[in-house]
This record gives sequence, structure tokens and C-alpha cells, in this order.
Amino acid sequence: MDFRFTKEEETFRKEVQDFLAESLPADWVGVDPDGHHEQAIEELHQFDLKMRRKLAAKGWLGLTWPKEYGGQEAPLMKQFILEEEIMYRGAPWWALSAALMIGDSILQFGTEEQKRRFLPPIARGEAQWTVGMSEPNAGSDLANLQLRATEEGDCFVLNGQKIWQTGAHYADWCILYARTDPDVPKHRGISVFLVDLKSPGITMRRIPSMAGHHAFNETFYDNVRVPKENLLGEKNKGWGVALFAVYTEKGFGLWLLHNARRDFELLVEYCKETYLNGQLLAKDHLIRDKLAQMAIELEVGHNLGNRINWMAIEGMPVVAQACQLRPYGGNLAQRLANLGMQILGLYGQLDEKSKWARLGGRIKHLYLGSVAMTIEGGTNEVSRNTIARVALGLPRG
Ligand SMILES: Cc1cc2nc3c(=O)[nH]c(=O)nc-3n(C[C@H](O)[C@H](O)[C@H](O)COP(=O)(O)OP(=O)(O)OC[C@H]3O[C@@H](n4cnc5c(N)ncnc54)[C@H](O)[C@@H]3O)c2cc1C
Repeated sequence: MDFRFTKEEETFRKEVQDFLAESLPADWVGVDPDGHHEQAIEELHQFDLKMRRKLAAKGWLGLTWPKEYGGQEAPLMKQFILEEEIMYRGAPWWALSAALMIGDSILQFGTEEQKRRFLPPIARGEAQWTVGMSEPNAGSDLANLQLRATEEGDCFVLNGQKIWQTGAHYADWCILYARTDPDVPKHRGISVFLVDLKSPGITMRRIPSMAGHHAFNETFYDNVRVPKENLLGEKNKGWGVALFAVYTEKGFGLWLLHNARRDFELLVEYCKETYLNGQLLAKDHLIRDKLAQMAIELEVGHNLGNRINWMAIEGMPVVAQACQLRPYGGNLAQRLANLGMQILGLYGQLDEKSKWARLGGRIKHLYLGSVAMTIEGGTNEVSRNTIARVALGLPRG
């Protein structure tokens, strides 16, 4: 067993680290998309637009895709290294996740025409996308979705509602899951559409998050016409696309761990240089114990992630493993946020607007944002159900 990266991979890692050091402001706190206040989110969006153009100029959006679709045909390991460094620094990552969650689905299921039309703008960092899966009565039970698509001439006509669409208010396009046949078992009547969000009949309503900012939206479709050439994959075979996208997103559990590692390191530094009632925090037995425990958990997660990445590179199935990463990463982030709050005390409740904030207010953001980390991309309970079924061979509950 050889855990080392190759020389070429280490060189690439260094290149990404240097790029991030140059591109991020010196006082960069890091992105926690679920924890910023309204104004910061708007500023963050503007910065994200700049960053995605820079990432695109490096050829790092769609890094592994074929060249004819705007990719670099790079090995998968480079993609993993890029993700790790971006998440570790808390750099804007939405363009990267869109390339994976949406671009990879188009690459896997799209027609030649769709790949040539939709992938290059993603690789150039131009087109912004959102995912339209969830509905008020279709979250964990995604197959229950009711947004209806009916055929009319050369179009499908969409009617219904989506909810929790992250970033839809900035997006140009949506990968939308709709019901095309209501008379068959629910998994067999779903189709996927690539929808221009400027189409007449689409309205959007903001949903403020518990952290008080605007990241989510409800979208309403009223007789929205989508050309038939925008059907992704076969009609009524959309469940396969959904599973592909959901399991891709499950792998993002590792992203949570990379992100948490940086917060952890900053907390350790804080304890090494901060005194409370005349005693260095790092000498407090309880704090030392908790930090050491967290170090173990991060190391375990990191190695689990590396193993799963290796399995993916070797072409092995990683569905159950990706489902392990998601609850592991989400729970760890929540435990780290709690630990951070205990260490910072009342300072932990302040964000970067306060002169009394510690660590740039990032622990407050992590504390609020990490609540969503065991829900987004499918809840922990759903991930564990998949592990029970796929890895342990237990019958459906
Ligand atoms: C930060 C964030 C971003 C999101 N972004 C998007 C997006 O961009 N696009 C999009 O389409 N959706 C998005 N979502 C929605 C997300 O996919 C759903 O919230 C998630 O799938 C859970 O669905 P739900 O909220 O309807 O909860 P429900 O499905 O109603 O679940 C409620 C509770 O019941 C439990 N439960 C449900 N079924 C079972 C079961 N069979 N066994 C055991 N427990 C069960 C769940 O685990 C949960 O605890 C986002 C969510 C979050 C938090």
C-alpha cells in the first residue's frame, strides 16, 4: 500500500496552492455558503464570478472532460487534488460543483449536440446552473416529484413547483426533474430537462436561510415550454440521471472534511496563543483532549476519502462509500462547530463585522452553516439507508 502522491501530482497541488494564495485576499475568511449574511453573499457572488473565470482560464473547470467539450482530459486524481485545495482554503467552489453535478450528468447522459452546446460554457465559467430536484413533497422521497411535463408538438410544457434551489436567482440554466408519466410506478415516469431560466412562465421566490441570507429559492413553472432537444437522457428514464447526480453529490462529504480541516488548524493555533484567566488554552486538559479527539476524526475521514478516491480512479463502485462520507463529513463539521463554540465562548457568536470577532467570525458561520450539512444532497438518514441496503445487504425498510 503506497499512500504517496506522484511527483506530478505534488507539482499540481503546489500550482493550485500558489494560485489560491495569489487569487484570494490576504484576509480571506473562507466560504461557508450557508452562513454568510445578505450583503456578504452579494459580495461573495461578485467575487465568485471573478474566481470562476480564473479557474476556467487555468482549465480547471471540467478538468477531466474530453478536450472537444472544453476539458483537459486530466486524470481523476488531479480533480481530487483541486477539490481538496479549494475546499481547504474555503475558496468559492460553486463553479467546480456545477461542473461535477451538472456537467458530469450532461457528459454521461447528453446527446452529442447537448455536450457541444452546454459543456464548453460551463468549462469557460460562463454559464451558471442550478439543480431543480426537490419539491415540497419530494425531498428524501425524490421519486414522488409532481412537477408535470407534457408533450405538445416540438416542446414539453412544464407545470409545477420546485423548492430549495440553491443559487437559482443567479443561474441561467436549471437541470430540472419532472414527471412525464403519472400512470407507471413513480421511479419510471421521471424525465430530466435542461431549462433556460429566462423562459416565459418561470417565477422565483426567495427563501431566507436560518442564517438570515438568501441562497435558496422556490421556483414556479406555469406552462413553460422547453424544446424537445433539451430532454436529457431518455424520456421516463430520469431516475438513472437522478441517482448518478445524487451519488456524485454524496462524494462532497469529503469536501466538508477538507473545509473543516482548515477550521480545525486555526482553532489549534488560537489555543496555542490565547490565554483565559491567565492560563494558556492549549494547557487546558479538557480542550487538549477534545482537540486530540478531533484530530483523530479528521485523520480517519481523510484516509476514508483517499481510499474512496482511489476506488473511483480504479473504476470500482463507490455508492455505499460515498454515502459513508456524507454523514461522516456533516456530523464532523457539526461537532467541530460545537467545539469551536466551546473554545471561543461568547466570542464565537460574533461574525466578521464585529471588532471582537475571533478567527474572522468563521466559527459562527460554521455553527449556523453546518446544520444544513446533514440535510443537503440527501439527509444522513437516507445515506445510512443506502449503506444498509447496498453495503450490508439488508432488505428495504
Ligand atoms: C443547504 C441545502 C441546499 C440544497 N440545495 C438544493 C438544490 O439546489 N436543489 C434541490 O433540488 N434541492 C436542494 N436542497 C434540498 C435537499 O435535497 C432536501 O432538503 C433533502 O433531500 C431532504 O428533503 P426534505 O427537506 O424534503 O426533508 P424530508 O424528506 O421531508 O425529511 C425530513 C426528515 O425525515 C427523514 N426521513 C425521510 N425519509 C426517510 C426514510 N425513508 N428513512 C429515514 N428517515 C427519513 C429525513 O432524514 C429528515 O430527517 C438543499 C437542501 C439544503 C439543506
